[in-house]
Amino acid sequence: MRYVLALDQGTTSSRAILFDQKGQIAAVAQHEFPQIFPAPGWVEHDPTRLLTSQLSAVVEALGKAGASPSDVIALGIANQRETAIVWDKRTGKPIYNAIVWQDRRTSPLCDRLRTEGVEETVRRKTGLLLDPYFSASKIAWILENVDGARDRAERGCLAFGTVDTWLVWNLTGGTRHITDRTNASRTLLYNIVEDRWDDDLLRIFAIPRKMLPEVCWSSERIGRVTAPLGPAGVEIAGIAGDQQAALFGQLCVRPGEAKCTYGTGCFLLEHIGDAFRLSQQRLLTTLACTTTRKPRYALEGSIFIGGAVVQWLRDNMRFISCAPDIESVAAGVPDSNGVVLVPAFTGLGAPHWDPYAGGMMIGIRRDTQIGHIARAAIESIAFQVADVLRAMDADTGIPCRELRVDGGAAANDLLMQFQADLLGIPVCRPAMLESTAQGAAYLAGLATGFWSSEEEIAGMRGGCAFRPKADRAQMDARFARWHNAVERAKGWHANS
Ligand code: ADP
Repeated sequence: MRYVLALDQGTTSSRAILFDQKGQIAAVAQHEFPQIFPAPGWVEHDPTRLLTSQLSAVVEALGKAGASPSDVIALGIANQRETAIVWDKRTGKPIYNAIVWQDRRTSPLCDRLRTEGVEETVRRKTGLLLDPYFSASKIAWILENVDGARDRAERGCLAFGTVDTWLVWNLTGGTRHITDRTNASRTLLYNIVEDRWDDDLLRIFAIPRKMLPEVCWSSERIGRVTAPLGPAGVEIAGIAGDQQAALFGQLCVRPGEAKCTYGTGCFLLEHIGDAFRLSQQRLLTTLACTTTRKPRYALEGSIFIGGAVVQWLRDNMRFISCAPDIESVAAGVPDSNGVVLVPAFTGLGAPHWDPYAGGMMIGIRRDTQIGHIARAAIESIAFQVADVLRAMDADTGIPCRELRVDGGAAANDLLMQFQADLLGIPVCRPAMLESTAQGAAYLAGLATGFWSSEEEIAGMRGGCAFRPKADRAQMDARFARWHNAVERAKGWHANS
C-alpha cells in the first residue's frame, strides 16, 4: 500500500493520519501536549513538546497501518494558526515558549498602535484587524522581553516561524526556513494584496526582516524529512493553516464555495477568487490554498461559541450526559416554544463583534422544558452561522448556493436540517468529517502526483445533503426573533 501522511498540529493535540490512494483513512494517532498558562490571559506551548507529540503520533500511525516511511509518498501539514515561535538559527533552540493564538498579553501594544492610527494601513494590506490574536505583536513581545533577543534578531541570529515553519525546520534538520502563504497571511506582516512580506508592517511592529521565513505555495515540494526520526526520507509537499486546509479539504476552490467547521467554535470560510476584497461586514480577508500558483482569497468569520453551547448544557446544566444526546432531547419537542438562547458567553464574534454582549435566554415560560432549551441551543449555533454567511453574501454580492460542513457538531442531523431550513440552501456533509487533515493530504498528494487532479479527489468523496424543507416565512420569522434577542444581549457587560 502507498499513503499520504497528514500532520494535523492543533491547539490541544497533534494528530497524524495516513490516507490511502482512495482517500480513505488507514490509521490515525493523536497525542496531546500540555497547555501552559503562566499568567491570566497568557497561553503558551513548549515548542519541543509540539514537535515530539507530532513525531510520536506519526510513529504510532505508521505502526497501526503496518507501514514504513518508504510506503509514504508525501507529507502534508495543517497547523494551528498565528501561534508564534522564535528560535536560534544556529542551535535550533527556541528562545521562548510558543505564544499561542489565544494569548491576549499583547493587547496593550495593539491598543497603542491603534491610537497611533495604523489600523487602517494594517487592514488594507493584510485583510485582518489589529489584534493580539495574530502573530506580529507576539513576536514583538518576545523581542522586547527576552534578554538580548532584539540584538540577536538584528544580527540575523534568530528565526521566527508559525508552527508549520517550526515543524519543517526540524524535519529538514534546519535546512528549510519556510512557511506557506496561508500561514503567512495570519501574521499581520504579509501583504496579501502584493503577495510579499511588507516593510511598512515590519516597521510598525519593529520586527527585523532577517527573522522571516521564505514563503512557498501550499501545494509545493519543499524537501525531504532528514531527521532520523519518524517519517525519515518522506517528501514534505503540502502546508496550510488549519482553517484554509479545511476549506481545501472540502474542495472549496472556486468563488462562492464555502465551508463551516462546527467545533468548539464555528469557522466559516468562503472562497472569493483571485481578487482581494476588503470586507464591509467586519469579516477577515485571508489567503486560500491553491494549486495554481496564483494568490486566491477567502473571507473568514469566526463564532466563539458553537459546539461549546452543547458542552455547557452537558457540564454546567447537566441536561445531558454526552454531546450527541442533545439531538434526541431536542427531537422530543417540535420547536423551541419561543425560547431563544444567545450564547454570548465570551461576547459575540463576527459579524457583531461585541465583547460586552452577555449570554442570554429569553422567552422562558411556565411550560418551558429541557427539550425546548436543547432546541434553542442547537438553533443558536445555526443562527450564528447564518449571520456570518449573510454577511459574506453582502460582501460578495452573490448569495452562496450551498454550505459544506464538517467538525464534531456537524454529526448532528437536527442541527444540519435546521441550518439548511434557515439558510434556504443545501447543507452538504461529506462522508468523512476530517476536512483539515484531508486538506493537508490533498495538497501534498496533488503536488507529488499521488492524486492527479481535484476532479479525481472529488470523485472519491461521498456524503449527503440536507435540503431546505421548512416554510420560508416561518423561518424568516424565527430569524427575526433571533436578531431581536441578539440586540437585547448586546452591551450587557459594558458597565460591569
Ligand atoms: P474541536 O476541534 O473544537 O475540539 P470538534 O470538532 O471535536 O471540536 O467538535 C466538538 C464539539 O462539538 C464540542 O463542543 C461538542 O459539544 C460538540 N458536539 C459533538 N457532538 C455533537 C452533537 N452530536 N451535537 C451537537 N454538538 C456536538
